[in-house]
Amino acid sequence: MASKISVLGSTGSIGTQTLDVARMHDLKVTALTANSNIELLERQAREFHPKMVAVLDLGAAAQLKIALKDTDTEVFCGEEGIKMAATEESCDTVVNAIVGVAGLVPTLEAIKAGKNIALANKETLVAGGSIVMKAVRESGVKLYPVDSEHSAIFQCLQGCPENSLKRIILTASGGSFFGKTREELRNVSVKQALSHPNWSMGAKITVDSATMMNKGLEVIEASWLFDCDDKDIDVVIHRESIIHSMILLKDNAVIAQLGVPDMRIPIQYALTYPERLPSPAAEPDFADIAEMSFYKPDYNTFACLAVCRQALRKGGLYPTVANAANEVAVDMFLREKIKFLDIADIVTEAVASFGGKSGNITLDDILQTDKETRIRVKNKY
Ligand code: NDP
Ligand code: MG
Repeated sequence: MASKISVLGSTGSIGTQTLDVARMHDLKVTALTANSNIELLERQAREFHPKMVAVLDLGAAAQLKIALKDTDTEVFCGEEGIKMAATEESCDTVVNAIVGVAGLVPTLEAIKAGKNIALANKETLVAGGSIVMKAVRESGVKLYPVDSEHSAIFQCLQGCPENSLKRIILTASGGSFFGKTREELRNVSVKQALSHPNWSMGAKITVDSATMMNKGLEVIEASWLFDCDDKDIDVVIHRESIIHSMILLKDNAVIAQLGVPDMRIPIQYALTYPERLPSPAAEPDFADIAEMSFYKPDYNTFACLAVCRQALRKGGLYPTVANAANEVAVDMFLREKIKFLDIADIVTEAVASFGGKSGNITLDDILQTDKETRIRVKNKY
């Protein structure tokens, strides 16, 4: 069980819920980081007394340094500061709740420093799964999934004999636009895309849920965490988000993990594994839930899911490209520079026009491909 944690991205949706868990179980918090939200970071620092905090934005970091000068918390800045938080000497577990591929290098640094990882930042595995899993194997640290579906699968696998798994069944809520046609999606607004039926999350992942890119990213994430291929991972729409995912075993028995949609359960499990402790989340009331529904995903309307599966089958740097194109596209959509359906077109185009690279993939290849893809997409719009 974790006892001293660094929380990267502590001001976000997962970050703040991680601190709920830390508060409940008196976990020592050694480092916190943010991009620029120094008001919240200051409050968190005053409550949890970390040794250090880091802010990516240099100006914001300078302001926070002044604000925290009456405390013992040191303030660092930029990517270097975030790396310092990821490797802070006294911590045993790093919770990575940064959004986007910006989380990749801090994850690798933390692994190299011998820290266990509680990973919410799925883009780390999508863009850099091969090198991250290799680093985990070589350093002997533990990587625990925080993403609810992957935590569910991890929970379901406890107690299953090795080689008993037939397929993974990832559940998907279907996001804000389940059941809509392409025509109906043509002019949807940012506000509509941001109103998720079941989960309250950061803006990027909420848009990813609406396009179903999120499920595509999760298929790739699952392939790395559970060492399986595209064909070993089914996706089923489950509107109520009560079943967080399932495993189909060789005898066709299915094991599912259920609970109210509250990320504090998977966050806590990643921190307390293998223990089961009381959590801030509520009990489910099945009579109140009453019904659970299941549907096939619509791979034509929600093309991002299909493109991610394609990128996974192609392997190499294709998932890096899909992720980078999506990050740029979502950002442009949130700033109302493009329409909702453009997101899937951009990701599809980026993957289709990518030339690939054979041989061993390095961190430099990943960062370079990420950068080139971003430039290619931005230049077009
Ligand atoms: P949020 O946008 O709510 O939070 C992101 C956090 O990362 C904030 O602390 C933000 O700081 C910081 N940040 C943003 N950009 C950078 C950067 N370039 N470098 C360093 N830090 C940065 O995101 P979520 O909490 O929703 O998601 C975090 C990750 O967890 C994502 O990968 C997401 O896919 C995954 N996830 C989230 C779930 C959820 O329920 N929210 C569920 C499952 C997975 P600031 O506040 O200053 O902007
Ligand atoms: Mg998820």
